[in-house]
This record gives sequence, structure tokens and C-alpha cells, in this order.
Amino acid sequence: MTLPPNVYDAEPIPEAARAEIERLLQTGDLFRYTAPEDAPVALLEREFADMLGSKYALAVSSCSAALFLSLLALDLKPGAKVMIPAFTFAAVPSSIVHANCVPVLCEVGDNYRIDMADFEAKLDSVEAVIISHMRGHTSDMDAIMALCTERGIPVIEDAAHSLGTTWHGRNIGTIGRIGCFSFQSYKLVNSGEGGILITDDAEVLARAVIMSGAYEHNWRKHKGPRGENTADLEQAFAKWQNRLPLYNLRLSNLAAAIIRPQLGEVPRRVRDGRSNHDYVAGLLESSPWIEVPAKLAPEDRAPDSLQFNLKGLDEAQTRAFAKAAEARGVKVQVFGLSTDNARAFWNWQFLGETPELPQTRAMLMKACDTRLPARLTRPELDLIAGALIGAAEDVMGETLAYGT
Ligand SMILES: *Cc1c(COP(=O)(O)O)cnc(C)c1O
Repeated sequence: MTLPPNVYDAEPIPEAARAEIERLLQTGDLFRYTAPEDAPVALLEREFADMLGSKYALAVSSCSAALFLSLLALDLKPGAKVMIPAFTFAAVPSSIVHANCVPVLCEVGDNYRIDMADFEAKLDSVEAVIISHMRGHTSDMDAIMALCTERGIPVIEDAAHSLGTTWHGRNIGTIGRIGCFSFQSYKLVNSGEGGILITDDAEVLARAVIMSGAYEHNWRKHKGPRGENTADLEQAFAKWQNRLPLYNLRLSNLAAAIIRPQLGEVPRRVRDGRSNHDYVAGLLESSPWIEVPAKLAPEDRAPDSLQFNLKGLDEAQTRAFAKAAEARGVKVQVFGLSTDNARAFWNWQFLGETPELPQTRAMLMKACDTRLPARLTRPELDLIAGALIGAAEDVMGETLAYGT
């Protein structure tokens, strides 16, 4: 009999990491700037930038650090407004507060994507936007880029959960001015903690590198494509040297040694994650109470979790559904119902007064989240789908039968 899988465990770190970790332990060479060149962190940056097709990468301590440095690298004035979707993780508005800017929350639709009418209505009041591809769902990047380019507003992509996703075949994270990724354990590539930003803009890269903690002339160890120093990069570093504060958000060589052998696993994880997701989503279609919103046409997703909306359930029935699913061995969180959920905007009390966003709130009250790691087997996926369909039936079966 198949048992409910543990969906929280990550995959083992590839065996290939061991020799390099052993070397680092033997030599104590853990700081990225000790070696004259080719430190594991520097090699990771080159490999990651090449993998996604961007000129530059900067590895840092988390995706939140990457978002914070991105805002500072754009040289926004204190108090500048930065738009984000109201459906995101609390670390995203936090990075804006940390950068002395002010978040402006934009409505999100039932399909977890940015509501373009609200986005456009609020765009003229902001100086930058962070597009959080929340849970790997891509908003309409064509419309977003057209509106922002027209106004000269820089776009930062929060691609923490979108490594491997493409839009018209182009890698997510390379569409805006800057793309930020996470290596926290619940993401596609896991080093416990870690993040990286990518950009084609030498000035942005130079500013972010210095503020990440490249003191004195350590910036010389940051190179452009093919490991070469480009003239615009040299100029940008020379311009900003000693003019920016150091926040010391660097990544250690140990984390880079854990990440690098996983980059080769990304295509498999993406393929398996997508096929798992689409398989379970297909099975859920048979339930009259469950709806998995469709992706947008230009998007190819890289999911490691599944989101779906409950249809026709009130709040008590929604709570009963989550309980019934858990009793059947599958944990579901309803974003707006679980206590203290960091993805429900009304819990971001550090912002002071949180705005009223009825559309996003209504979505969060019916949107369910369940993890679906790439390593799951078909019988495990069948069990998960069966538990979700069964839980809805447990709660709603009678209502339908008696027509109430
Ligand atoms: C995980 C996540 C973050 C934060 O990443 P950290 O590396 O933990 O700082 C930000 N945004 C989204 C959409 C995420 O999923």
C-alpha cells in the first residue's frame, strides 16, 4: 500500500558535491574572496549566468538579500514607491521596507497572477516594480514590460520559485532589469540558504557587488561573460568604489559547493515537477469543487507545488476540507485561513495599515496550497489526488445529493 509521502524533505545533494566539500574542509577555504580566482562562489556565478543566458550574476545570502540589493542598485531615493503583487511572501515587502522604500500592493486575480487593470492604474505612482512570480505562476510579462518600458520604470523579477520557468521560451528572471532567485531548501535548488541575482546591466551589477560586501578591490574578482573583464564593468566599479555602504550579504564557498552540482539536475527536476503537477491537476478536474487555474499561453512552468481554488465552499466548509485532507494524509494550507500565514497581506502588520484588496483577499480565502516535489512517484501522486478529491466529497457530497 502506498503511504502519504513526506513532501517536506528535499532530494539528497548529488554525490559530486562531496569531494569539493572535503577539499574546502581540508583547506578551510570558505570565504569567497580568499582565492585569487575561480573560488566556488565565482564559478557558481559564471555557471548560473550562462545557464540562464544573462551577462552577470551575483550570489548572495538569500533571495531576500538579492531583492534588497536590487532596489539599492537601482539607486531609488528614500521613500520611493515600489509596486508588488499583494499575493507574495512577506520577505518581499520586507525587502522594500529594508531598502527605505514604500511598498504599493497590487490586486491579484483568481489565477494567482497580477490584475493588469489595477497594475496599470497604480503604475504612475511608483518608481520601480518587483514582479513576484509567486509559487512559480507567471503574470503577463508582455503587458507588464510594455507598460513599464513606456514609462522607464525598472522591473525586478522575484523568480525565487521560478527557476526553469520560461515565457515565450525565454528564461524567467532575464526579462526584467534584474532577476532574483533563492536556494532556500523549499526551492528547486537547495543549499539551505542562499540567493543569486542576474542582470545584463554593468552599473547595476557593480553597485550590487560592492554593497554585497566586496570591500577594497575585491570587486576585481567579479567578471563578465567568458570570465572576461568588460570595459563598462571596470568603469562602473571604479565609479562606485568607496561610495557605497557594505551590507555584507555574501555567500560562502560551502554553499556554492552544494549548489553547483545541482545545476545539472535542474532540467530533470523541471520536467518531473511539471509532469507531476499536470498529472495531479488533470485528476482534480473530475471534482466539481476543485479548480486548478490554467497557466498563461506563453508560459512553461516549473512547479514543485500545486495551487487550486475551492468552488462553492463557504469558510466553514473550506476549513472542514483542509481537516478532511489532513485526515487522509495530505496537508493543505488555505493561504487566507491558516493562522499567521506570511502570504496573506493583512498579516504584514509591519507595513502599518495594510490596504483593502478585496479581489486578492477573496482569492486567498479559497486558494489551497500543497507541496508536490519532483521526486514523487505516480502511486504517491494518485494518493494525493485521491485524498483531495475525497476530502471535497467528505465535506460537500451531501450538499450535492440533497441539493441544498
Ligand atoms: C522563497 C521566496 C522568497 C524568499 O527567498 P529567501 O531565499 O528565503 O530569502 C521570496 N519570494 C518568493 C516568491 C519566494 O518563494
